[in-house]
Amino acid sequence: MKLTFHGAARTVTGSRHLLEAGGQRVLVDCGLFQGLKKLRELNWEDPGFEPGFLDHLVLTHAHIDHTGYTPRLMQYGFQGDIHCTPATAELIELMLMDSAHIQEEDAAYANKRGYSKHHPAEPLYTSIHALQALKLVKPTRFNKWVKLSARVRFRLINSGHILGAAFVEFRIAEKMKDSVHPDEITVVFSGDLGRYDVPLHSDPEPLPDCDILVVESTYGKRTHSEESMLDQIREDFERTIHKKGVVLMPSFAVGRTQMVTLILRDLMIGGDLEEIPIHIDSPMAIDATAIYSRHLYESNLDKEITLDGRNRLFPFEVHLHRTVHESKQLNEMRGPRVIIAASGMMTGGRIIHHLKRRLPDRHNLILLTGYQAVGTRGRALQDGADTLKMHGKRVEVNAHVATIQGLSSHGDSDEIMRWIDTAERKPSKVFVVHGEIESAKALGERIHKKFGSQVTIPKLKDSFEI
Ligand SMILES: [Zn+2]
Repeated sequence: MKLTFHGAARTVTGSRHLLEAGGQRVLVDCGLFQGLKKLRELNWEDPGFEPGFLDHLVLTHAHIDHTGYTPRLMQYGFQGDIHCTPATAELIELMLMDSAHIQEEDAAYANKRGYSKHHPAEPLYTSIHALQALKLVKPTRFNKWVKLSARVRFRLINSGHILGAAFVEFRIAEKMKDSVHPDEITVVFSGDLGRYDVPLHSDPEPLPDCDILVVESTYGKRTHSEESMLDQIREDFERTIHKKGVVLMPSFAVGRTQMVTLILRDLMIGGDLEEIPIHIDSPMAIDATAIYSRHLYESNLDKEITLDGRNRLFPFEVHLHRTVHESKQLNEMRGPRVIIAASGMMTGGRIIHHLKRRLPDRHNLILLTGYQAVGTRGRALQDGADTLKMHGKRVEVNAHVATIQGLSSHGDSDEIMRWIDTAERKPSKVFVVHGEIESAKALGERIHKKFGSQVTIPKLKDSFEI
């Protein structure tokens, strides 16, 4: 058996892990590298795992840093099956088509401006490649064993991260000293691990007894704030409502928007916050909410999302803006009201138009909902920038800026440890991935100290015979 790490090694994006065992070549996740230019350029290099010779691709969940490289495989002749849960299958249709569209637009823009090294600039992949990839998808229910060959099987188990998100348990008919199951090696890939006791998503299922664990470490050296969302926003919110300002919330379309809406509505219904209209200005967030709604009963969502038979994801008081015309109508609307739009770190999308309009007014509130990467407008606002560049122009920042902590859909260091502790027999080998080096190290040390596992933090392209 062999494990090779082709991405998310000492970084948080580009998850691609190759498992070669029992005559099968299986790729677990197929993500895009995102963020700094040095990382993004890796998407253009040879992936190093010969996609044409892969037998299977297993996707843990729909986020682009776990799935966004999949259409690119089509250009290398990939013909295998793509396995994921039914909810993930629906979400990736949305996300891969959107990603392909962005790739096509970027290439067209580069050609128009003539700034690409290549003439003409080509997209990383097109909508055709995304459609070809989607045809290979074979949805499989949570917990159902899927046989890949006489010697390899796997199942997807709820990880509580976003709708449809899973960790993967592989059983391989090979011998290993002191393995937890006789004549089998058990390998678990955590994918992205969710949180315990949060609204919207259910808790992660317990970790099965395994020999080898590949675990994420996004928040490997941090613990999330325990302060409630209400305590964090009440003062700013009340001040903004009093001044008839607009609360602008940049948010990710899948997972985050649904959670923020749910919490805000609960606080308004409960009388903790004054009732004001909430607007969701994002076609993708609206589509994603519809997919969440379709999977209310047979997936990994918190059962309390329905109340007296009503779906709380689409309350009457939340207004949906799908078309450009509907989006533009928001420009004329006065406060107080809440506008939620993508993208979460303000790198693009409709949020840019709203920022241009609302940032100069000191009565408004910009409410950031989590981690803002270096180099993004979100980070600049967090760092107290007094102007922000948008569409080539500098816009003055007079609005109040605040950040809500603890809305992440990733478990923190304590929660990852809690999850590993749910296994009766702890894994003898642990590979720590999907984290900056400091986070991976901090988590690795905790795991080694508490569970005695042999811990490795692989570098990109590192390969291990087991
Ligand atoms: Zn994720």
